[in-house]
Amino acid sequence: MGRPAMLTVDDDQAVSRAVARDLRRRYGEDYQILRASSGAEALETLREIKLRGGRVAILLADYRMPQMNGVEFLEQAMDLFPNARRALLTAYADTDAAIRAINVVDVDHYLLKPWDPPDEKFYPVVDALLEAWQLAGDREVEEVKVVGHRWSAASYQIRDFLARNLVPYRWFAADEPEGRRLLDAAGAGPEAVPLVVTPDGRPLTTPTAAEVAAVVGLSTAPVRDFYDLIIVGGGPAGLGAAVYGASEGLRTVLVERKAVGGQAGQSARIENYLGFPDGVSGAQLTDRARRQAVKFEAEVLTTRDVVGVAARGGARVVRFGDGTELSAHALIIATGVSYRPLVGPGLAELTGRGVYYGSASTEAASCADTDVFIVGGANSAGQAALFFCRYARSVTLVVRGDTLERSMSYYLIQQIAGTGNIEVRTGTEIAQAHGTDHLEALTLIDNKTGTRSTLPAGHLFVFIGAEPQTDWLDGAVSRDARGFVYTGPDLVVGGRRPVGWDRDRDPYYLESSVPGVFAAGDVRANSVKRVASAVGEGAMAVTLVHTFLETQ
Ligand SMILES: Cc1cc2nc3c(=O)[nH]c(=O)nc-3n(C[C@H](O)[C@H](O)[C@H](O)COP(=O)(O)OP(=O)(O)OC[C@H]3O[C@@H](n4cnc5c(N)ncnc54)[C@H](O)[C@@H]3O)c2cc1C
Repeated sequence: MGRPAMLTVDDDQAVSRAVARDLRRRYGEDYQILRASSGAEALETLREIKLRGGRVAILLADYRMPQMNGVEFLEQAMDLFPNARRALLTAYADTDAAIRAINVVDVDHYLLKPWDPPDEKFYPVVDALLEAWQLAGDREVEEVKVVGHRWSAASYQIRDFLARNLVPYRWFAADEPEGRRLLDAAGAGPEAVPLVVTPDGRPLTTPTAAEVAAVVGLSTAPVRDFYDLIIVGGGPAGLGAAVYGASEGLRTVLVERKAVGGQAGQSARIENYLGFPDGVSGAQLTDRARRQAVKFEAEVLTTRDVVGVAARGGARVVRFGDGTELSAHALIIATGVSYRPLVGPGLAELTGRGVYYGSASTEAASCADTDVFIVGGANSAGQAALFFCRYARSVTLVVRGDTLERSMSYYLIQQIAGTGNIEVRTGTEIAQAHGTDHLEALTLIDNKTGTRSTLPAGHLFVFIGAEPQTDWLDGAVSRDARGFVYTGPDLVVGGRRPVGWDRDRDPYYLESSVPGVFAAGDVRANSVKRVASAVGEGAMAVTLVHTFLETQ
């Protein structure tokens, strides 16, 4: 396969030449640098590349061009090369217009012209675009292969696990020729799905997530018996704590039950995280954080569920689902929140077969030409609506409350209102899901009138009732009625410290009712449910861990 392309389009020949020159200087060896002087010419070039079976990594388009402006060009280019990363080139005067455009179409960055020196102002942006393109899986790799049934919940779970861990894989339906060939080669029958074939050709039939983790190179077992710091939960709070803990010299291990990223990893685009004016995908942000933690030598274990905690003398001990234990001087609980199951006839049976919790991005492509329903009125549901409307025929946002204003950010409400194929149904709930082996229709109920309507539905994504799943802290760590962990000032009531507290001081700000056990992020009672605050609390908890260790 030839070199992937980078294409720049600008009607100003001098600028176009300069951009191409800068690109060639740094990327010319590995990428083919192409330029065009109009949107139409650039689209023609892209069509030729498509026909030749080539790949396009990056598109850089001038915002202000006659006939077709940069945004219009990028929108059309997306149809040909959806994985290519996109940036707008703008003059200072057009910055506001560019940011507005970024909110409407999916552009990754805008670059102010002229950039000088390119080492500081141009190459870092292009490097980030390339990294995102490579993460999107659009590259030549020895891939994991997954064979399964389109509507099998077990097959979906493996695909979701690989996608969340950013492990590139290729999917084959068990009833298609290549899928059948792989099953034959593995000596497996059609019932032995999902079948996972490793890059070196090892077949695993109906594997668990832990077995898949082991063969794709994700750590599942700790290297040491004892650490300075154990962090439970690999969302933004846990990752923040891992980066600061490990970089500040603590022997740190992070334990995650599924895949690092947590809720943030499911966000198609986080727009309010400091330092990313044009947004960042949750997967990209949290993958960078994971790599940063590993760079500082934090250990990251996945597919390990923590089911118990205890204080034994100076050690803080966690117990895993398989009964084994791990100890440290201090512990940070960063287990966040998870969605509550939506209850109603048919919903449990069809989970993983059309009904999904959170933003199952692996399903995006199969939403094409289908009617998608999203339940929830918070930002997460709004982001999902804007994400899936790019693929689906229609998206219906089902909201129990009578308005979105109280629960969703203004910028999302505006974008939803401006999107033709999204309908918002307030005062409405899902009453029933219908389908034999997969979701085919949903019954909605209007809360005011009691009217029921049954509508065809391809997918339902649920974003309601996020709650902490902290039963495993029963009898050990003090929590509020909903299960959120009390910390610091919450624990000192009427001047009295928590029951069993054995220190001659009040609990530190993020410390729980057990000395040396801290909580950070969404799992903490009265926390702000945001990525930035979770990261901040993770960092702050580490500082308090140092203080705790110094006074031992
Ligand atoms: C779709 C979506 C979009 C969002 N968009 C935004 C946004 O744009 N801006 C914003 O600021 N916020 C956004 N949020 C909210 C934000 O993602 C959360 O506030 C943030 O992720 C909280 O981080 P956390 O680390 O506290 O918990 P989480 O992100 O919930 O991570 C907790 C982790 O702990 C793991 N875990 C749980 N229990 C255990 C256990 N017993 N053992 C091992 N591991 C365990 C979980 O698997 C999970 O990975 C969004 C949330 C969602 C769902």
